Formats: sequence, C-alpha cells, structure tokens
Amino acid sequence: MRIEENIKLGFKDVLIKPKRSILKSRAEVELVRNFNFRYSRLSWSGIPIMASNMDTVGTFSTAIVLSKLRLLTAIHKYYSIQEWEKFISILSSDVLNYIIVTTGISDLDYFKLKKIFLLSPLLKYICIDVANGYSKNLIIFLKRIRDTFPDKIICAGNVVTGDMVEELMIAGADIVKVGIGPGSVCTTRIKTGVGYPQLSAIIECADVAHSLNGKIISDGGCINSGDIAKAFGAGADFVMLGGMLAGHNECEGTIIKEKNKKFVVFYGMSSKYAMDLHIGGLADYKSEEGKLVKLLLKGSVKNTILDILGGLRSACTYVGAKNIHQLTKNTTFIKVLEQENKIFNHIN
Ligand code: 5GP
Repeated sequence: MRIEENIKLGFKDVLIKPKRSILKSRAEVELVRNFNFRYSRLSWSGIPIMASNMDTVGTFSTAIVLSKLRLLTAIHKYYSIQEWEKFISILSSDVLNYIIVTTGISDLDYFKLKKIFLLSPLLKYICIDVANGYSKNLIIFLKRIRDTFPDKIICAGNVVTGDMVEELMIAGADIVKVGIGPGSVCTTRIKTGVGYPQLSAIIECADVAHSLNGKIISDGGCINSGDIAKAFGAGADFVMLGGMLAGHNECEGTIIKEKNKKFVVFYGMSSKYAMDLHIGGLADYKSEEGKLVKLLLKGSVKNTILDILGGLRSACTYVGAKNIHQLTKNTTFIKVLEQENKIFNHIN
C-alpha cells in the first residue's frame, strides 16, 4: 500500500485568477479551434465541446442542433444500422463533420462500426468507450481499429493518469478521454472507492498527451460554464458534457407528465435502468454504477449551448484570452475554500 500525499483537485477547489485584458468585448473571442491529429491526416475545426455518448444525450436530434452551432456530438452506441442509414440519408454532409461514432470493444461492435463507416466516407471520428480504460482488451481493440481505419480520428478511454494516456496514444489513439467517477449520474466512486478529481486528472493527462502530439477530452463533472472554462484552462482540448445537456427536447428520453409539468428521464450508462434497457438486465456478478434521475424538461438544447458559449467567452475576456488556446496559456488557478454566494439559492 502507498499513499500519494499531494491533494488532487476538482473544479470546486479552484477559481481562475483574473488578468489584465485588452479585449474590448466578448464578441472578439473566437471559440472555434483548428485541430490536426497525432495519427489521422484529417483536420477538424469547430468549437471543441461535445455531447456525451449517453443514450439520452448523444442522440441524432442533439447532433442536428449542435452541428449548426459547430459543436460535436458523440452518438450513443444503441442506434441500429437501419437508424444510422436513415439518419445519414437525410442529413446535409456538414452535420457529419460534427459526429463521433461510439463503439464498445466486442466483435459485434467492430462489425457494426465497419458498417456505419461504409454508409459515408465523410464520418471522421470514432470513440472507443469503456468505463475502465485500464483494461488490456481496450488496447487490443484500439490497435485493431487503428489498423482498420488508419485515417480516422480515434478517441479512446476513459483513464485518469499519464501512464495510461501514453499507452493509449502509442496504441493508436489521437485523443484520450479522461474521467473516472466525476459524472453527474455516476456512482463509481461510491460503489468502488476508485476515482481521481477531474481538474488534476486533466492537468496531468494533458501534459503527457501534448508532449506526444496527442489531445484529451475532459469527460464528466462540469456542472456550469465556469467548470468548462476551468477544464479548458487546465489543458483539455475538448470537453464532453452529459448532465448539462440532459433534460432537453432533443434528448429522445421518456417524457413523464406530472401536475402540468413535463419531466424527462436521465440515467447513467451503468445504471440498472440502462442495463435493463440495453442488455436485458444486470448480471449477478455486477452491481450498478450509475443512477436514474428525473429532470424538468428544459426546452431546446440550443438555448443551453448559447448560454454556455456566452459564459466561456466571458471567461476568456477575464484573462485576456482571444481564444480557447490562449485561455489555457493565461490560466492561473487559485485554490479556494469557497465558490459562489448561495444566499438566494433556495428561491426558485
Ligand atoms: P456529466 O457531464 O453528466 O457530469 O458526466 C458525463 C459522463 O459520465 C459521461 O460522458 C460518462 O463518461 C460518465 N457516465 C455516464 N454514465 C455513467 C455511469 O452509469 N457510471 C459512471 N461511472 N459514469 C458514467
């Protein structure tokens, strides 16, 4: 047994220190980034924020709205080939630039992924997603996917430490997805005692990834636009959002009507609810690591995104950053014991 003495930090433990700025307005901030990748010869430009591949967040409906705003959507892995076929046939090619195709690591997943990519040569991104990215099976599958799709942009995860970022990048990942346990409907830390505070995970993983010409996605734990600014400030190249984009018209979730109010269900992908829905229940040797919540329907996700982008632009102006890349360079975090003033939080 060993103890690492340095305290690791989450978003709630820091604030970004303001810096002198010559920007006159938030409108001068450019949130679009242009990326090249470690392996893929494809380039991509857009706002590096993405909807999570959860099945009531990363939907086709979300992708249509987010792509118009130049944001990515990681499509969940439960659409059938027929549904993909229909979706791709009605789309403008521009939407495909903002689509990430998620896959698990079984043989069935592999053959389905190949079929999806046969539907359009314009699809760029693959996300190989497993809850525990420390498994050898992920590395084996990642190598197989890199061999099959040498030109595509491949993300793999989730991990939280530099050693594993390096291993995934050497095995073929352009981007590593970072986050174990910070999610809004995740109970992994409670069920297993395993996890890593997200801000420290980003700082440590970004450092390794960038030294290898790779990139990272910060996945999970953002509860407001300030957290997204902190994730970029810490070095994330992309930020993935689940809970913040849940509960909207585009989520394709079950709507429940109660007392003239509409709610939509949102659940962790390792919750019993998700297991019952997708794999016919929870195996005896497993316990659920996610929860189910009921959210008040918030309307279109477009309004939430515009609010997030406004907050992010404002964060940039507070530190004199013209763009997200400069936000990382201009960020000094201060450790704090307080965040916002909560005096009126009980109202509304
Ligand atoms: P959020 O933005 O809601 O805080 O976090 C979203 C992320 O939580 C997802 O992208 C995914 O990585 C993670 N997640 C989703 N469902 C579950 C679950 O059931 N268990 C765990 N441990 N993580 C989950």
